Amino acid sequence: MLHPILEALGLAEHNPGSTLGNGVWADSRAEPLLEVFNPSTGVKLATVSSASEQEHEQLMHAATQAFLAWRELPAPRRGEAIRLCAEALRRHKDALGSLVSLEMGKVKAEGDGEVQEMIDIADFAVGQSRMLYGLTMHSERPGHRMYEQWHPLGLVGIISAFNFPVAVWAWNAFIAAVCGDVSIWKPSPRTPLSAIAATRICNAALKAGGFPEVFFLLNAAGTARAERLVDDARVSLVSFTGSTAVGRQVAMRVAQRLGRSLLELGGNNAIIVDATADLKLAIPAIVFGAVGTAGQRCTTTRRLIVHESILDDVVEKLAAAYAQVRTRIGDPLEAGTLMGPLIDAAAVKRFEATVERARAAGARVVSGGKALERPGHFVEPTLITGVRPTDAWVQEETFAPILYVMPYRTLDEAIAHQNGVPQGLSSSVFTRDFQTAERFLSAAGSDCGIANVNIGTSGAEIGGAFGGEKDTGGGRESGSDAWKAYMRRQTNTLNASNALPLAQGIRFDL
Ligand code: NAD
Repeated sequence: MLHPILEALGLAEHNPGSTLGNGVWADSRAEPLLEVFNPSTGVKLATVSSASEQEHEQLMHAATQAFLAWRELPAPRRGEAIRLCAEALRRHKDALGSLVSLEMGKVKAEGDGEVQEMIDIADFAVGQSRMLYGLTMHSERPGHRMYEQWHPLGLVGIISAFNFPVAVWAWNAFIAAVCGDVSIWKPSPRTPLSAIAATRICNAALKAGGFPEVFFLLNAAGTARAERLVDDARVSLVSFTGSTAVGRQVAMRVAQRLGRSLLELGGNNAIIVDATADLKLAIPAIVFGAVGTAGQRCTTTRRLIVHESILDDVVEKLAAAYAQVRTRIGDPLEAGTLMGPLIDAAAVKRFEATVERARAAGARVVSGGKALERPGHFVEPTLITGVRPTDAWVQEETFAPILYVMPYRTLDEAIAHQNGVPQGLSSSVFTRDFQTAERFLSAAGSDCGIANVNIGTSGAEIGGAFGGEKDTGGGRESGSDAWKAYMRRQTNTLNASNALPLAQGIRFDL
């Protein structure tokens, strides 16, 4: 029977998965279907068709044609189109938030929050559409003027992860659209329904406003379609969000054809808690950061580095908080649930294997550590002490609610631990000491793309540039000047004089 949340958004038991432009959807069924399961029950929700090679090519052709027209529309008009998308998303916030929660397993408030992020970035993009500023420079030659302008880049491929089934697309697609680009979205095969619903809502809003369709969707099982998108020289920018292992392959393939890539990869985020920290702020921030979205955020808090003088107190308080969370694990759509399931059975296995490795090496599981014996893919929020910062499992990102707690003596030691992992996404320090905060934010402090004081590692706002260093990939999306990645810069020199002076005073007498 069709789930009412799917019905509310016009989805069916089987759904065409990819767009071919102008309201046409591809549904050849020549490829294996994507099967979508509810992670809280294991029950099948629906199927989605996977694009064939021929459909993929049709899509690329339609997207290329769409770009030729879209790039000539004035940027503020493109902004108006995205304003209409924001309005449509406001109307569908509850339904789409519920679908994200149902399909991905994050709690309803987080599902709604994800749609709110789409709305926020759309509003941001509307303003940005009037601010695609270039600089003017003073020429060294008389009567000459130099300036730079930003032109649309072309087709933008967006490959996204399961854990943010719609927001990551919006971060990329809305900014790309106001920049004059047309996007092709390859979502996670685990969350194709949210992708279909979001694409439909936004393309319908464009159509109602008299705008052409600029959001293309490419749903596919396996990796062949995604790899073809990555290798396609018609795709000027590949914006990839996912694991470091896959992102590394994507980066190499795009570099091979000298294309551009924007990488948002794995995190292994730490919070430092010093002896002066206000634990009334720190404890809830740590718990939300570590167990929110069942530990499946790129910004999830995975490591806690605590001053040795308060270690026991912090662990005790966390264990009490974890005991409360344990009583509120369940259906993510039910009011009061704090933690939903992991995405699938493989994720549960990785969780169990990691806890087992740590335990076998002598670590102490203070809280949790087990999968729940019930339908769906539920695990306990897990707190582990007695690990070293260099332990293999501490160095890796296990996409599950496991928090490692480690002591430190000096601030420099804490910062070295915080930076001593391959990833570099998000970090924070809880302190009341001004010098500690400043040291943490200084050039000798956190090496991450995001560094916070007295707030946790997760829950970034769209106004800032989002992304991280090292194995996190170096990309920046969302706010600040991240729009520049979606445009090409052109430097222009105009000569309004009657002479032709050469640069650097060179003479070339004829
Ligand atoms: P994943 O790497 O398994 O998949 C991500 C996407 O890549 C999916 O759409 C998948 O179909 C596609 N893909 C798989 N093989 C491919 C290939 N060979 N070529 C091109 N594309 C391919 O990641 P996941 O399990 O969906 O998501 C979890 C990971 O994503 C975590 O590591 C998490 O930290 C990361 N993530 C990072 C950010 C960020 O902003 N830094 C945000 C969300 C998630």
